[in-house]
Formats: sequence, structure tokens, C-alpha cells
Amino acid sequence: MNCPKCKNQIKSENINVSKDYCLCNTCGSTFKISELINPNNDGKFDIKNNPKGTWYKREGNNIIIGASTKSWIAFFIVPFMVVWSGGSLGGIYGSQIYNGEFDPFISLFGLPFLIGSIIFWSLAVMTIAGKTEIIIDNNGGKIFTGFRNIGITKYFNWNEISDVREEKQFFTFPGSGGGSIKLEGSKRITFARFLNEPKRYYIFKALQTLKYKGNTEGHYV
Ligand SMILES: [Zn+2]
Repeated sequence: MNCPKCKNQIKSENINVSKDYCLCNTCGSTFKISELINPNNDGKFDIKNNPKGTWYKREGNNIIIGASTKSWIAFFIVPFMVVWSGGSLGGIYGSQIYNGEFDPFISLFGLPFLIGSIIFWSLAVMTIAGKTEIIIDNNGGKIFTGFRNIGITKYFNWNEISDVREEKQFFTFPGSGGGSIKLEGSKRITFARFLNEPKRYYIFKALQTLKYKGNTEGHYV
């Protein structure tokens, strides 16, 4: 057990479990053990009471927590993209295909529009039908962000994770969640940027609960 203030290890002789008390002899701070073990336990969070658009399930040894990235912004981004990329790509490449003539200069000029279209269409698909899903198993875990099986997967070692944190984003764009979740271990993983506040909060609290309290059936992951 480490001191939450100075991060130094607390000696076992300074821990009194029956009195729920411990002392850090490096910095002199005292703490309740229950707060150290689960610093964010407000007693009200229930992992099984998940908000709409999120899920929590067990499949064999796997624990799966996820959330859809559907967003109202799709109603704006999709029509915009149809006009924007339809107009630019149709004008630049469609006309060449239609006329059966290849124009290298115009084609080169159109490349930024092509790349922009791919990026923004990927975002658009996320707002229509994407998801963020965390799978924790006996060996480790992974986080998938994408649509069906197309997307980005980040791997982590669940036992190595020392902290689960939520971070607000200073710059936000419509449809983004305005924040992210960070898993800190031998490396730092940031995810859940697409999730709105209620979904991100659920995922965040669920991961903390699993990390600090074990899962609801009483097994520690
Ligand atoms: Zn200390």
C-alpha cells in the first residue's frame, strides 16, 4: 500500500486494519484504509445499473464494458459530408471518370479533399454506429474503438494498471465527449473521447469499481 500524498510505501506495522487507520511515516499523514483501497467509493455507484447506450456483461472469463458512440451530431455531420465530399470529390474525380480523362494536376489538388473525406467519414460513422468497448480477461485487456470490427484496439495489462482517471478536455468539438479516461500503468492509455458525459462517467466508475473492489460477484479481476 502506498501513501496517496507522497507515494511512498506504508510499512505494515503502521497499518491497523481493525481501527481502519494507517500512518505514513515518510510524510506523517494519516488515512483511513477503506479510503485508500477504494478512494472513489461514494457507495452509490452500481455497475449493473448502467445508463442507456452502455453495457456490462460477463462472457466466460471475460468482463466486457462498452458504450455506443452514437451522437445527435450525426444529423449534422452526415448531410454536411454528403454535400462537402460529394461536391469536392465528385467535381475533382467524378468529372475525370465521367469524361474518361486522367488529369494528374487536378488529381493531386484533390488529395487533401480525399484524405479529409476519409477522416471525416470515419468520424461520421462513429457518430452513427460506433462503439468503445473494454474487454478484461485473466491475462490483460484491450480497448476497442470503432465500427463493427474496423477500428483501433489498444492493449493493456490490467494487473499493471495503477490508476483509472477521468480527464476533462479543454478544447471540445460538438459530438465529442469533452473528456477522456486514462489508464495508467507501465504505459498510459487514453480513450473514450467519443463518449458523452453520462456514458463516459459510467465506464470510468465501472473500471474503478472493477479495479478497486473486484467485480460484483465478489471476484477480483
Ligand atoms: Zn506519505
